[in-house]
This record gives sequence, structure tokens and C-alpha cells, in this order.
Amino acid sequence: MKVIRTPAEMHDLRAELRRQPVSVGLVPTMGYLHEGHNSLLRRAREENDVVVMSLFVNPTQFRAGEDLSTYPRDEERDLAIAEGSGVDYVYAPEPDDVYPAGYSTKVEVEGLTEVLCGSETSRGPGHFAGVTTVVAKLLNAVDPDAAYFGQKDAQQATVIRRMAEDLEFRTRIEILPTVRERDGLAMSSRNAYLSPEARERATAIWASLLETESVFAEDGLDAAVDAGRRHLEMAGITPEYFEARYPGTLDPADGEGEEPILVAVAANVDGTRLIDNILIEPSRTTRRNPE
Ligand code: AMP
Repeated sequence: MKVIRTPAEMHDLRAELRRQPVSVGLVPTMGYLHEGHNSLLRRAREENDVVVMSLFVNPTQFRAGEDLSTYPRDEERDLAIAEGSGVDYVYAPEPDDVYPAGYSTKVEVEGLTEVLCGSETSRGPGHFAGVTTVVAKLLNAVDPDAAYFGQKDAQQATVIRRMAEDLEFRTRIEILPTVRERDGLAMSSRNAYLSPEARERATAIWASLLETESVFAEDGLDAAVDAGRRHLEMAGITPEYFEARYPGTLDPADGEGEEPILVAVAANVDGTRLIDNILIEPSRTTRRNPE
């Protein structure tokens, strides 16, 4: 496994790979790797000749006052995990090389980025502009056949798919299921911030989404979302948002048709902001009171 430190080196590598008949898979990460990242690396390994993992805590997707300076980092450990998962190249540039003096370009997806995590009361649309800009730069530098993202960040997945289609990136965007701890908590680098008490309480997030799914089958969507929110509040967690939307457009869901429904939640648990979601498939739930 080789570590690549600059965009220029990455471009040289890509030029060299282009001379060979190989497929390239990219897994973008901000490091502090866990089993969620590993599932993406494993899939990339299965599907490609060459696997590139990027390791970059992207400053432009953090709002002032967010956890950029304290975001958990352990490059040595990440490199060992990446090597164990069969990564060929880790692309780990410095912020100053990604955004050198004079850098002025932003890639922004409209609409989809203004709700949920993009609303002004959450991280704001600037968060996703940071994400789409860095992902566009990564897709451009690595030019992968496929890039792998997690359903854990469902809105991010929707926004990136939209951007890739709109800008005609030829990369296949693959979205993989959320990997969870045994008690259901979605794996996240930020779980490292949780005290034992907060870690225990955070299990209410996935439980509230399961509650939503089961009430939906009985009583419909509005009652289901209310029940999910109440479940969280009973655990002493006030969600930043708890909403049902259609996953492709992120329009509010009414739950009347057969379309899958994304129920997404963001919540601050003792100072740590956690997100999670569930996809409810109306066609696969038995509605006892469909009226
Ligand atoms: P991050 O390092 O948090 O930016 O995440 C890098 C990639 O891993 C993103 O595509 C995430 O959606 C994905 N990811 C993070 N947590 C999980 C998880 N628990 N299960 C599956 N994918 C995940």
C-alpha cells in the first residue's frame, strides 16, 4: 500500500493507471476508520482492480463552532486498517494542497441541500457545498470507475448522486447499507466522543426509528413520526430534526403511495451530534388500517 500526499502525485498515479486495463474504486473518508468504512473498502476491493481510499478531514464542510479542530484523527491506525482491508493507495493530502492560495471554486447542489442537515437550524447548506466541492475534486483527481458511500449519510448520498449526474461524472456512485453496533447504534467516528452514559442513551436513536417503522405499519406515517420523536424525547434526547421524506427528492413524504420513505434524524447527545435514518418500504409493511 502506498500513501499519496499531494494532488500532483495523485494525477501522476492516475495517468500511470490509465495506461493499464484496470478498474479503479474510490472510498472517500475523513478517517478514524470503523466497520462502516470497512464495509465500503471491502466492496470496493471485490469490485475493482485498484482501490484508492481518500483520508481527508475536509475543513470546508464544517461550520464555525463545529468540531473541525477536535475531529478524531489517528492516521497510523487508519493506514494499518486500510492496508488490512486491501487498499492499494491512500490519498491523504493536506488542506493547503487541496485549497491552495487563490482557490475560489465551489460546487453547489441546490434544493436538496437546504433541508434536513442543510437547513439553517442544522449545519446549513454550506455544509453540503463543502462536501460536493471536495467530492467533485476527488472524483476529478482519482477518476474512479466507482465511488462508495454509506446510507448512514442518506442526504449526502442523494446530493452526491445528483451532483454526479448533473456534472456528468462517469463514476458509478454506490451506496452501501449502514453498519451498526450490536445494540443498533450506527457506527460513526463521532461515537468516540460519547461518555459511557451518553453512549447508552444514544441507543434510543435507532430504537426510535424502529418504533417509527412499526407504528407506520399500524397507524400511518404521521402517527409513526410522532411516536418516533416521542421515543427519543422519553430518553431525554431532543431531535434537531426527525422527518419523513422521499429519498430521491427529499420532498416531505405523505406516506400514501408505495414509494420507500426515508425517516431521518439528527440529535445532539451530550454535545455530540449524531445522525441516523431508516428506509421504510410501504409495499413490504402490512398496513392494518390503510385508510
Ligand atoms: P466519514 O469518514 O464519516 O466522512 O464517512 C466516510 C464514508 O463512510 C461516508 O460515505 C459515510 O456515509 C460512510 N459511513 C460512515 N459511517 C457508516 C456506517 N455506520 N455504515 C456505513 N457507511 C458509513
